[in-house]
Amino acid sequence: MSVGTIQDVAVDVRGLTKHFPVGGGFRRKNRRFIHAVDDVSFTLERSRIMALVGESGSGKSTIARLLARLYPATSGEVIFKGRNILQLTGPELLTYRSQVQMVFQDPFGSLNPVKSIEHHIKRPLLIHHQADSREVRERIYELLRTVGLTPPEEVARKLPHELSGGQRQRVAFARALAVNPEVILADEPISMLDVSIRMGILNMMKQLRDEHGLSCLYITHDLASARYLAEETLVLYAGQLMEAAPSGELMSEPLHPYTRLLLSAVPDPRTSLQKSRVEARGEIPTIINPAPGCRFANRCPYVMDVCRQVTPGLTEPSPGHRVRCHLYGEGDASLKKPDS
Ligand code: SF4
Repeated sequence: MSVGTIQDVAVDVRGLTKHFPVGGGFRRKNRRFIHAVDDVSFTLERSRIMALVGESGSGKSTIARLLARLYPATSGEVIFKGRNILQLTGPELLTYRSQVQMVFQDPFGSLNPVKSIEHHIKRPLLIHHQADSREVRERIYELLRTVGLTPPEEVARKLPHELSGGQRQRVAFARALAVNPEVILADEPISMLDVSIRMGILNMMKQLRDEHGLSCLYITHDLASARYLAEETLVLYAGQLMEAAPSGELMSEPLHPYTRLLLSAVPDPRTSLQKSRVEARGEIPTIINPAPGCRFANRCPYVMDVCRQVTPGLTEPSPGHRVRCHLYGEGDASLKKPDS
């Protein structure tokens, strides 16, 4: 992974870990934990889009919520403007939250059905002192134009149910932009939209990056959209980072067997499904106090004895391309059970 100067870095994530306790039990040694995110590190550069890809339960949405400070982290660091934001409290935390905004999967659920679009955008503008009462309306119209909702005067008067799903998601972006953020955490922003309008949202995100210099962490289970949108893609499985590389390289030369499995599920009209499909056996493992070894071992067609005993570490077979698999070396492999 290329790590630029501090000016180039939007967010630097180091060893981010989140374990959720399961059930009761007062003695710490008897307690059980879901290892939702285990020791994940990456650097989101300024004016770049990075995709976090994985199946349900891979930990990708938990990472977004940790970065938004909606959950406390178990350990690790998230460096933003030289500060570890996991330690921020009070006004400093509020300032951080305005600079790093989250857009959720369900645009309808994130809007109040009885309030106008104008109301939804006006609120953050006034609360975060981004406009005074004389200029607020013009600023609302400007934001609606930025996200492609025109004529803004007409859109601003509408209620959420009077807009299409794609338009509602654009309103969610406009509301996030109202506080002038530097980073957007977009959690599956197109997964609830019709296929026909997904491309419009992806192009709008590209435009926000190119014309407004925004950095974006794009959470998705859809590799095709990651390839289209993101400069770099990270593949997560069962709470661990399995592979990270520039998106083009990851799609054309995937190294990890799990990435190959995900890619084989993306329809490609040039090859028949029979030919391109990688068979996956087994099931997604439980990540409650996981045993040592590779978490993908039960599904991997290349599994070896060592895979069931030693947790593979990350290696970098080529510059900027990281992979967690014994086929490419042990990396920082460990025989120890991860601490809970
Ligand atoms: Fe497969 Fe072993 Fe690599 Fe895991 S470490 S992905 S089981 S080859």
